[in-house]
Amino acid sequence: MSSTSRRSFLGAGLAGPALASVRPGGRALPQARGAAQEYKLTYGTLGKTGLRVTRMAFGCMTTSDPSVIERAADMGINFFDTARVYQGGNNERMVGAALRKYRDKVYIASKTKAEDRRTALADLETSLRELQTDHLDVWYLHSRSSPSMVNEEVLEAQRIAKRDGKIRFAGVSFHDGHREMIPAMMKLNHFDVFLISYNFTMDAWIEPLIEQARKANIGMVAMKGLAGGVRPTVSVYKVPADRLNRLNRTGAAVAAIKWVLKNPYIDTIIPSIVDNDQLEENLRAMAAPFTEADARLLAARLEEIRPYYCRMCGSCKGACPKGMPVSDVLRFLMYAEGYGQFGLGRENYQSLPAELRSIRCAECGSCAVRCPNGVRVAERLMRAQEVFG
Ligand code: SF4
Ligand code: SF4
Repeated sequence: MSSTSRRSFLGAGLAGPALASVRPGGRALPQARGAAQEYKLTYGTLGKTGLRVTRMAFGCMTTSDPSVIERAADMGINFFDTARVYQGGNNERMVGAALRKYRDKVYIASKTKAEDRRTALADLETSLRELQTDHLDVWYLHSRSSPSMVNEEVLEAQRIAKRDGKIRFAGVSFHDGHREMIPAMMKLNHFDVFLISYNFTMDAWIEPLIEQARKANIGMVAMKGLAGGVRPTVSVYKVPADRLNRLNRTGAAVAAIKWVLKNPYIDTIIPSIVDNDQLEENLRAMAAPFTEADARLLAARLEEIRPYYCRMCGSCKGACPKGMPVSDVLRFLMYAEGYGQFGLGRENYQSLPAELRSIRCAECGSCAVRCPNGVRVAERLMRAQEVFG
């Protein structure tokens, strides 16, 4: 499913810095400082789409510097992921401007949160305009956490878009509910690609589901691969903001990517990338083997984040008598505290219905939600209500 390649560099962006000597099959990272380091592009075939995508793709959700996207395209990354709603609608515009000159060399995926056909197709037109392209390679129904969120109207929108040549392939993304969603979405016999949360914190039961979907020739894309940034958060650990980047480069991020990519049934991962350091770090993770040291590092990290990080297992769905969508709210908090993207977290929180936003867990007495993974649910929800409410 995955393989390595010596495909030539794309574009002319590497002409400047001198390249260090490179072993056969590897490439040197162009660097402004220090010795050049090696990386190698590896590829997966995205299921029935047949698209050959770099196994480390580019999640644009939190990127605000277009030059990082351009550099990734120059270095051979060929799959870029955005969504209509990211950054209040501005992310697609930035991605489109950055990728315009690379459009025939890269694949672009975007998403709609719409729940009816007309809105979905209107979203698609906006996405195409903002991305400066006449088609998307993959168009996802965005963040569907239960089968009821995938109705006939939105499926019809994808069929129409395909028929009209505005999308090549249809996908669906979900953060949690894999146990229910993967079989249900497979049964529809409609989708070409699944975009799912998948990382080292998840339980083993998810593995056969992923294998089953990939063996049915559905392209499998992993998101949330770094489990909330796999770093101590600002609020929990009182880490000064200027130390965050350094903490993120302790090796845990690389180990987390390697963990995802060691699964042969995952075609590619789309980690969020905000700067060139993260880009280079991720590139090095693409072809590197997962080691015992990586396993130890992730085990330690799992213990560290256990009380704070929701593994999106779905076990607590419906447990709150007031209807609190626990895993969603914890994910919004993760955007703010794990990714350092407060605006993104608040934006998502504010999109919840008013009656859910008015819930105050502090007034609840004892929480009815019991997390088998040790997340301090009520405490984290109160935190979310405090910072977003
Ligand atoms: S809070 Fe716990 S039980 Fe609920 S989805 Fe997250 S990890 Fe699972
Ligand atoms: S503390 Fe919050 S999540 Fe827990 S039962 Fe009460 S309202 Fe629901």
